[in-house]
Amino acid sequence: MAPSEAMSRRSAHPVLRLVSTCSVFGLLAAAAFVGTYRYVEREDPLVAVRVVGTGVDRWVHIDSGEPVAAALLEAHVTQVDGQLLSAQSGRVLDPHHDPATLRVGDRPARLATVLTARQVVRVVDGADTTEGTRTEVIEVAPAPMPDVLRHVQERGVPGKTQRVVGVESGEVVSSKVLLSPIDPRQTTRKVVAFTFDDGPSATWTAVVLAKLKEKGVKATFCEVGQEVDAHPEVSAQVVAGGHQLCNHTVNHDEGMKGAPQSQLDAQIGGGAKVFVDHQLPNPAYFRPPGGLLSPEIKATARALGEQTLYWKVDTEDWRKGADALTISRHLLDQVDPGAIILMHDGGGKDRAATVEALGLAIDYLRARGYAFTFPITKRPAKA
Ligand SMILES: [Zn+2]
Repeated sequence: MAPSEAMSRRSAHPVLRLVSTCSVFGLLAAAAFVGTYRYVEREDPLVAVRVVGTGVDRWVHIDSGEPVAAALLEAHVTQVDGQLLSAQSGRVLDPHHDPATLRVGDRPARLATVLTARQVVRVVDGADTTEGTRTEVIEVAPAPMPDVLRHVQERGVPGKTQRVVGVESGEVVSSKVLLSPIDPRQTTRKVVAFTFDDGPSATWTAVVLAKLKEKGVKATFCEVGQEVDAHPEVSAQVVAGGHQLCNHTVNHDEGMKGAPQSQLDAQIGGGAKVFVDHQLPNPAYFRPPGGLLSPEIKATARALGEQTLYWKVDTEDWRKGADALTISRHLLDQVDPGAIILMHDGGGKDRAATVEALGLAIDYLRARGYAFTFPITKRPAKA
């Protein structure tokens, strides 16, 4: 009889109410009986199994036919996988690197493996391991070159560091400096670097080259792309003479300061491309026309691998009517060890005075112990 039916009868008649009260007791008694019966039924087929795990060794009872999982629940045993840990910080690289395993008796088992009485379940937890390491030697770059050179700079030398790193994580466990890097520095030697701008000139570059050859001096030529296009054979002579090339933009653009990046790319990147187009070496230097600089101009040159070149000494050979003595006096008045010297082999003017001044200055400087080099030089063996 459903409870709702009993309720409706009880409210219908006092006699029925008594009957139904008896029925309620009867139901309770029946329920108690069934409960006892079920308890007895469940108690009977229980089986005892032994669970052995890390720090645990216990007998538990489970229903017959239940699997390993039930035994582990009864015994409050969990499986713990071994983790892979990083070499330096110990962070977890793989939480399941060495999975826990189960055995029943002497056989491998799974959580679903059904148990029988008195079997032994063993939980073998995984072991934590630390990743392996490897030893490597890495190159350590020296400090970068200055943004702009006014003096001859001695190139830096990379250093070497040996370090032990985690194979998986890359974490550095230890490191040892084998060789400290040597940073670039402005030279202190008595040297100067001659630079010639605005060529190549079909007329004057060869004359300058002849003078340099006569004096045994190497120099740097900052050439304008459109002139290289017009006289690539002259640029080739510069290279053949053992001199270095420098990018001076495509059109001697003096309007690049504050100009859009596209213009810088066209003038500076375009200037570099002209050399390559004529199978000339990629220039190592960039000289801004008119000496006009901005961070963007320097960054554009740097991105091309070109060192921005300024000067310490402006010979002012570009001034109208400048004669050889005036030019060489400008030069000698300002020269100091490492000075980068600005002169011109191109630009459409008569360069006879420049060539004469060049010869005078080389002789004068040489007599005072100066040597001649490029704007970036190797560091001398003994510093
Ligand atoms: Zn120029």
